[in-house]
Amino acid sequence: MTQLPLPSLLLIIDNQALADNWLALDRMSGTARAGAAVKADCYGLGVDRCVPVLWQAGCRDFFVAHWSEVPGVIAHVPANRVAVLHGPQTPEDAAFARETGVRPVIDSLRQARLWGEAGGGPCDLMIDSGINRLGIAPEELADPAVQALDVHTLLSHLACADEDVSMNARQLAVFRECLPAIAHRQASLANSAGIALGSDYAFDLTRPGLALYGGVPRPELAGRIAQVAFPKAALIQTRTIGAGASVGYNATFTAPADMRIGVVSLGYADGILRSWAGAHFLHGERKLPILGKVSMDMIVIDLAAAPELSDGDWVELPYHLPDAAQQTTLSQYELLTILGNRFG
Ligand SMILES: *Cc1c(COP(=O)(O)O)cnc(C)c1O
Repeated sequence: MTQLPLPSLLLIIDNQALADNWLALDRMSGTARAGAAVKADCYGLGVDRCVPVLWQAGCRDFFVAHWSEVPGVIAHVPANRVAVLHGPQTPEDAAFARETGVRPVIDSLRQARLWGEAGGGPCDLMIDSGINRLGIAPEELADPAVQALDVHTLLSHLACADEDVSMNARQLAVFRECLPAIAHRQASLANSAGIALGSDYAFDLTRPGLALYGGVPRPELAGRIAQVAFPKAALIQTRTIGAGASVGYNATFTAPADMRIGVVSLGYADGILRSWAGAHFLHGERKLPILGKVSMDMIVIDLAAAPELSDGDWVELPYHLPDAAQQTTLSQYELLTILGNRFG
C-alpha cells in the first residue's frame, strides 16, 4: 500500500522517564519489587511502546484488567508474568487463561468455583479489604473453593491511598489479618500512591500504574516522578483576523483588535476536552492561549507571542499531569487514558 503521510499530531513518549519512574518506584518499594499496571493500553500511552521499556528496566509483573488486553501484552513478555484483574466471568475466560498461561485474579467465590471447575492452576486472589469493588470478603477465605486455589499472589487494593485518612491503616490491618488464612507465594497491596505510604504497605510486590506514566498522586512522589507523555501538534493554518471577528463554535471569543491566530491539529476526539478552554499551548517558553471552544479536530490559538509561526510549525500542549489536572478539573488518570488514537 502507498505509504501514509506523516501525522499532524504526535504523542512523544520519553522512554527514559518511563524507565526512571519504574526504577524510582521500585526503589521506594524497599525490599518489595515493583510491578506495573499496564491496563487500558498502558493508561493510553500504548502497550507496544511502554511494555518493552518497562521490561528492559527490570519489571517482571504486569497487570491488565480485561482478557482482550492479554494478546497485546504477551507479545512482549512471558504469559506467566501477566495477571488479569477482572478474573474469569465465563468458562471461556478460564479456558483462555489455561491455554495462554496468564494468571486470572480470582475476585469472588463464583470465580473461585469456576476456576476450579475449569481445572484450576496458578491464580492470584483479590481480597476486598474495604473498597467494595472486586474481591472476596475476608470471611470467605475459609470456603473450600478458595482454600483449593493455587494462589500465586494474594492481593488487595487501597481505596484512598492518595489521601491521609485512617482508612489506609484500616485496610492494611484487614489485609494483614488475612495473610495467614490462605497459602500464597507473595502478597501485594500498594498502587502508586500506596508506595508513598511507606514500607508497611509494600509487602512483596507493588503495583504502580499512574506514577509510571508521570502521574503524581501524593506529594512524596513529586520530584521523583517525571513527565512521560508529551502531546504535540502542527499548525494546519495560520491567519490574521480583524477586530470584532469571532472564533469557533458559538463565537465565544471575539478579537479585541487585529490578531494573528493559528489552527492546531488537535481536538476533543484526541482527548483534549473542552475543559482545556482558557489554557495555553507552548512554543518553547512562549505561551499561546487557546481561543474559544475546543472543536472535535481543531483548537484555535493566539499567536501574538510567536508571530513568526506559520503553517506546518509545531506547538506543544503542556501536559505535566498535576498541573493539567488543576487546569482542566480532569483527574490525572483521565488525562492519560482519554488520549485518542490519531496520535503518531
Ligand atoms: C489500576 C490498578 C492499580 C494501579 O493503580 P495506580 O493508582 O494507577 O497506581 C493497582 N492495582 C489494581 C488492582 C488496579 O486496578
